[in-house]
Amino acid sequence: MSLYLKYRPRTIDELDLASVRKTLEQIVTANKVAHAYLLTGPRGAGKTSAARVLARIVNCEKNRNKLGEPCNECSACKSILNGSAVDFIEIDAASNRGIDDIRELKEKIRLAPSQLSYKVYIIDEVHMLTTEAFNALLKTLEEPPKHAIFALCTTETHKVPETIKSRCVPIQFGKASENEMKRSLSRVVAGEEKKISEEALSYLAKAVDGSFRDGVKALEIALTTTMEVDLGRMEEVVVGVAGFSAKPLAHALADKDADLALQVFRKAVLTGVNLGYLLVETMKALRDLLMEGKEVTLTKLIFALDEVASKSGTSAVPELLVEMVIIDWCGVVPKPSNFGEKNKDPKPTKIVPQSPKPEKKMAAVSHDEVWQKLLKGLNGDSLTLGALLSKATPAQISGDILTIKVGYAFHKEQIMTEKILGKLEKLLSEAMGREMKVKCEVAEAAAKMPAPSDTIDEAMAIFNS
Ligand SMILES: [Zn+2]
Repeated sequence: MSLYLKYRPRTIDELDLASVRKTLEQIVTANKVAHAYLLTGPRGAGKTSAARVLARIVNCEKNRNKLGEPCNECSACKSILNGSAVDFIEIDAASNRGIDDIRELKEKIRLAPSQLSYKVYIIDEVHMLTTEAFNALLKTLEEPPKHAIFALCTTETHKVPETIKSRCVPIQFGKASENEMKRSLSRVVAGEEKKISEEALSYLAKAVDGSFRDGVKALEIALTTTMEVDLGRMEEVVVGVAGFSAKPLAHALADKDADLALQVFRKAVLTGVNLGYLLVETMKALRDLLMEGKEVTLTKLIFALDEVASKSGTSAVPELLVEMVIIDWCGVVPKPSNFGEKNKDPKPTKIVPQSPKPEKKMAAVSHDEVWQKLLKGLNGDSLTLGALLSKATPAQISGDILTIKVGYAFHKEQIMTEKILGKLEKLLSEAMGREMKVKCEVAEAAAKMPAPSDTIDEAMAIFNS
């Protein structure tokens, strides 16, 4: 079991954020629970952990008359902790977006709980629900049964409809302060009966930028090889490799050298440099270049990287987004005129960033309308697919098969994964009003280029380890 799961807060006192501890203490003091809570805040801030603590507070056998800390020993607490409680339901809206899940919830929620005092529903990443599913959920929230409590968790509160929000008590998870981070990380180190130096603890608390999950993950790696973590060991783990510098990447970007930038970036990811750290350091290095008067337009690039950094937690392939930013920034696109033709020049074509992007080429093919409809259908809720498709052009429809072309082999690989392809085909079928299949090809102009990340899975494995 990972240390993050092992040391998931089990009581109010163990919760990471002081403000959240206070909110739960207020619930306990008032001895009154609401029917729905909306837990909002960044990834890894401890939203579902807090929701699980809340589920035990309201169901703990010791708390029948007066709410208090959960005992974590009674059968109710234990059944929630070990996941056997049938009245404790966790739904991941990111993978269960469908109306069916919410419909099932609506049907079953009227039934009284079979073992616990309250049925508790945790819906994680609730903003991912479809409009239909939201409407069904809203009906339930409008007349919640007495025995039901909802804990809706989201990283993107602006995507949750106001009608839902207005029926929930908000619990805001801010970014953890350095002290809050140190408090929680110390608890893990002490629990493992190991030690960490004050310097190493402060360094880690700063480096993980408010994510407890990342902090504990880094600690876990550091603790496997030593009884006492010092600053050097901590740096090695956080940065991934000793002596990593973001300067070469920043310089390659400032020079708009796509090949070099992709190469440097890919190498850093493969050698295990933490992506979040890499992005922050790259932005800092770019800022330094900006201050030196290198290039004023670098601000645009810094904003683009910042956007990826803030969204990387919700993307399945964050490295890919960075690569797209690099390609966009450097103005390298596969020559649109060469799609479907033989091309003698294997080099990518450099164009100025203001030049038409490849998607403009869609006007030339007759599937423009369908494609636009499809892109619109994404509604910005699927960052990965949206990013991938913005780099693809529809080439041909033959029967029930749409052939799309992309510039790089690694884009094709990403599109052809079961998850992405399934979603794409579903959207396309909806847009066309009939069952459609998608075929993806690498545009010949770019096919001979070395793929910037043909080993992205390997990189992901390192990144996620
Ligand atoms: Zn209990």
